[in-house]
Amino acid sequence: MLEVRGLNSWYGESHILHGVDFDVQEGEVVTLLGRNGAGKTTTMKSIMGLVPRRQGSIRFKGQETLSLRPDEIARTGIAFCPEERGIFASLNVTENLMLPRTVAPGGLDLPTIYTLFPNLKERASSQGTKLSGGEQQMLAIARILRTGAKLLLLDEPTEGLAPVIVQQIGRTIREIKQRGFTVLLVEQNFRFAATVADRHYVVEHGRVIDMIPNAQLEASMGKLHGYLGV
Ligand code: ATP
Repeated sequence: MLEVRGLNSWYGESHILHGVDFDVQEGEVVTLLGRNGAGKTTTMKSIMGLVPRRQGSIRFKGQETLSLRPDEIARTGIAFCPEERGIFASLNVTENLMLPRTVAPGGLDLPTIYTLFPNLKERASSQGTKLSGGEQQMLAIARILRTGAKLLLLDEPTEGLAPVIVQQIGRTIREIKQRGFTVLLVEQNFRFAATVADRHYVVEHGRVIDMIPNAQLEASMGKLHGYLGV
């Protein structure tokens, strides 16, 4: 579904990605693991066209997207949920959910969203500012499910959340996968990653240096600790 080949990206004069290669198959949940500053977020932003200078190839469902604008990329069916979540503080949950523009058929309607996220249903009329970090994260994921995008890029959805909320996010991601969505996930927490993902790519210094199938993650812990410096 997504093929990234030889991706190079720059912020101004800073050369951040040095030939990133990886694939995501339709229906998979795949993580990008790596230390702070390895280039995981830059990879996601590059896929969304949000990094001004890029080279290489990014094909989504066979279509080259490298030269497309971010809004054109969104309309191919890719959605990005940034680490900062981007909830509108002055709007309530339902209003936040009504905002996104449909980019493709198959976006989830409000009743389906509220079935998937019962916590959000309870908080439907609460303002963005009143939501907990976990609720904001759920809302950010729910919002991109409204758009009809089929490939969801989630940047550290568990960052700063309590373990019980992390488990909820895990359940949500597994359910999204069951519904046929494809997920690319940036994670620092590989114990969490193991509960949701089919495969893991390790990013280091702007390159993908390894791919670990989830079934081999446990056996690869020593190697992973080395990569991630934990
Ligand atoms: P983190 O978990 O810290 O976000 P990451 O692997 O996602 O790690 P990136 O955010 O992709 O890393 O950052 C990769 C490198 O690019 C870092 O050295 C960072 O300082 C640099 N960088 C990120 N954003 C910018 C920017 N807007 N301008 C210049 N340099 C940037």
